[in-house]
Amino acid sequence: EATQAGGDTIFGKIIRGEIKTDFLYEDDQCVAFDDIEPQAPVHFLVVPKKPIAKLSDAQDADEKLLGHLMIVARAVAKQKDLSEGFRVVINDGPQGGQEVMHIHVHVMGGRQLSWPPG
Ligand code: 5GP
Repeated sequence: EATQAGGDTIFGKIIRGEIKTDFLYEDDQCVAFDDIEPQAPVHFLVVPKKPIAKLSDAQDADEKLLGHLMIVARAVAKQKDLSEGFRVVINDGPQGGQEVMHIHVHVMGGRQLSWPPG
């Protein structure tokens, strides 16, 4: 199934514990952890355990899961004290700059961010 194609990525290995990573948050549906190459003082990822490859592969049935990722992004942003604001990004596909084919939400903050991105 196309939406399962993201199963064998570095994020799959992180979720399964094959690559040891400190989780900022974990529940039955998702994990959050710091990006290895942070683009801001705070930069973490929220990743569903379901290996949807990219946003454009998500199904209508994933609506609740995708909403959950936002709620977790908000909760971890609060935990990280991003009260001055932050940015939430999902890169999709080659032109969107997606490198890891397992859908993930970037949350960045802790400095003034410019807009638009490159
Ligand atoms: P994308 O370009 O796919 O939206 O973002 C992938 C992100 O995953 C990048 O920001 C990259 O730094 C991060 N990343 C890639 N490999 C690892 C890893 O092994 N551990 C962590 N924590 N982040 C990773």
